[in-house]
Amino acid sequence: MAEQIKAVRGMRDILPEEVKIWQTVESIAFQTLEAFGFEEIRVPVVEELKLFQRSVGSFTDIVQKEMYVFKDKGNRILALRPEATASVVRAYLEHQLYTKRKITRLYYAGPMFRYDRPQKGRYRQFFQIGAEIFGGKSPYFDAELIVILAKIIEKLNVSNYVFETNSVGCDACKISYGIKLKQFLEPAKDRLCQDCQTRLQGNVLRVLDCKVISCREIIKEAPVIQDVLCDDCRKHQENFYTTLDDNKIHYKKNPYLVRGLDYYTKTVFELKIGEEENAVAGGGRYDNLVSELGGPETPAAGFAIGMDRLCALINLEVKRKKEICVIFLGQHALQKGTAILNSSRVDGIKIVADYEQRPLKNHLKIADREGVKHILILGDNELQKQIFLYKNMSNGSQKEIKFSELSKFFKEIDNA
Ligand code: AMP
Repeated sequence: MAEQIKAVRGMRDILPEEVKIWQTVESIAFQTLEAFGFEEIRVPVVEELKLFQRSVGSFTDIVQKEMYVFKDKGNRILALRPEATASVVRAYLEHQLYTKRKITRLYYAGPMFRYDRPQKGRYRQFFQIGAEIFGGKSPYFDAELIVILAKIIEKLNVSNYVFETNSVGCDACKISYGIKLKQFLEPAKDRLCQDCQTRLQGNVLRVLDCKVISCREIIKEAPVIQDVLCDDCRKHQENFYTTLDDNKIHYKKNPYLVRGLDYYTKTVFELKIGEEENAVAGGGRYDNLVSELGGPETPAAGFAIGMDRLCALINLEVKRKKEICVIFLGQHALQKGTAILNSSRVDGIKIVADYEQRPLKNHLKIADREGVKHILILGDNELQKQIFLYKNMSNGSQKEIKFSELSKFFKEIDNA
């Protein structure tokens, strides 16, 4: 036998049963976003590497360790996107979307790629639904993003969720906090992991994001950014929390939350379900990213939902669509019957034809095994009488359906 090729490590197939859950989640998420005025944008999966270096940050794990980078035939250095905010900002600038509306609300959905260590809830290709708001600096925008996430998650019947929130401050706050944090970490330097020892020099805030247990122990005692926030950042945060309270959002302040991407300023948040340590969504404000990528000063905020994690955690009962199976007995019935069937099909109703010739009892056995309850049979007798014979596999009842009434019959079955 020929060698069987398997999916690449860290990449996986989403099979039809799971896709039904994904489609339900997607349609709830898209409808909710559209109701808040968001419009869909589709951006490429491949971008220039420097887009991510300049946005996500050269000192992040994502850029340093997890990027799929390659040269194309024209010697361009490209990357598979590890996230989509950078691409959406690039598109926002490239198409000058800021000239069209004062506030631009965009959403996207698609696969992201990170060469991470595959484990439960962590893949190398994973799927995100994300939202971005450009042009608004009020904390009400930050709160709107959280309200949207809460609405989506509640429509999915999830109640045991919490938002973890923090502020990482503006650039000035980050600098003063960085100095304080470095002073605190310096004496414990030897107990930090190798990566964190480098982070200490390059981008000390990243130490807060380290997953190594010995580093986490040290971080527990670290000073908090709260203590150095400037007036503007403090006010922003207070108003954000008041708005969350007014909207009855369930949140928990986590003074060490920094997220894995460098572009965040002020508000950051993560959505967690139950006891799961991994967040299912994350986001925050990024007031400098648009200008850092060459655009006008534009405050912005956004979030990304991890579909793989979310869909694994929810308990969605997706109703199975009724299926009607059509069987043709004999070549003559097959030849005449398929056109009659195809002209009677009704959109949205699942009608599956089996063109293979086999004895009726074998057809029925297959239908039974596959759980199909509604069968239409066309043999020479039926063809002559211009009817299909309907067999209800649940109760064994039978009846004749006229060719002319086939569509009506399909609708009746679907509505029953
Ligand atoms: P981030 O883009 O890092 O802000 O992550 C946003 C969300 O994407 C996370 O909360 C996860 O749900 C999801 N996510 C990030 N990385 C992965 C991964 N390697 N595998 C699966 N989901 C991921």
